[in-house]
Amino acid sequence: MKALVYKSTGSWYVVKATDLARWPEGPKTFKARIKGVLKIGGITSTNPVAVGDWVEIEEEHDSDDTVMIAAVYDRNNYVARQSPGNKNQHHIISSNLDQSMLICTLKDPKTSQGFIDRFLVSCEAFHVPAIIVFNKADIYKQKQLDAYAEWKNTYEACGYKVLLASVQQGLGMVEVRELLINKTTMLSGHSGVGKSSIINHVFPSFTLRTTEVSDWSGKGMHTTTFAEMFDLPSGGRIIDTPGLREFGLTNIEKNELSHYYPEMRALINDCQFNNCMHINEPGCAVKAAVAAGSIHSDRYYSYLNILESIQKKTW
Ligand code: GDP
Ligand code: ZN
Repeated sequence: MKALVYKSTGSWYVVKATDLARWPEGPKTFKARIKGVLKIGGITSTNPVAVGDWVEIEEEHDSDDTVMIAAVYDRNNYVARQSPGNKNQHHIISSNLDQSMLICTLKDPKTSQGFIDRFLVSCEAFHVPAIIVFNKADIYKQKQLDAYAEWKNTYEACGYKVLLASVQQGLGMVEVRELLINKTTMLSGHSGVGKSSIINHVFPSFTLRTTEVSDWSGKGMHTTTFAEMFDLPSGGRIIDTPGLREFGLTNIEKNELSHYYPEMRALINDCQFNNCMHINEPGCAVKAAVAAGSIHSDRYYSYLNILESIQKKTW
């Protein structure tokens, strides 16, 4: 039977299966373990099964609510980060995403542009469309409103959707709701930016944060370190990734980075050298665009910063 993975702790999983004949009241939730060794084609991953995966489950004769995961279906996409224990391995955070939504703020706390750009580069690399929501508009002064207007222009020109929001004032809430309905969305952002407040405001019958549960081993593992997927009351799903500040890329090459900046990607064939890194090579179309103002200089600086961190292998 096919089931969808809602939670993964690395050793056990929560999956939901739909079979209206057996469970007319709605999908049935199971705890699941992996059966034997699962090999997932081509990916070296520390976690073979991720939140968002469709899996094949086998029910156990002696148990009503536990199942075995026998296979994982092909993923449409996935996002991954470096495995904390082994830098050469991926840790898949979630899969089969329609989009990701980054909640950020320009004040209390201010989300850095470097963080936003790293997030966007990751989304590009994993082929996940990104939405950026600037929350807490009610406390923005003219300075932050001006900054917002500038970033909205810049990021929208790159193809990202950008919204201004305030939970306090109800600003942007209808738009956020419409964007989330009937989609599977990964929700990201530093803690304190208002992720839970937004979701709880947009879907009042829903509470994002879950309570602590214990691991099967009884060690009292905290759920919030793991990604978890939730069904939204009006259709659609949210993947919450608490504790995950950003997802770094493992295998991104220096000369690939500009492909993940849409405004640079458009110009790559115009550079004099086809291996141009857009640093100080002659005839560089990207640098010319920065000088002409058609590429935002802060985007270009974030590009250089990320390039440097790839070189130092700190990202
Ligand atoms: P999370 O960690 O991203 O889930 O953030 P929370 O939803 O817990 O919000 C963090 C703090 O920001 C709380 O004190 C919220 O009341 C506050 N907050 C959330 N949204 C807004 C907003 O639009 N305006 C203001 N002024 N405060 C907000
Ligand atoms: Zn160039």
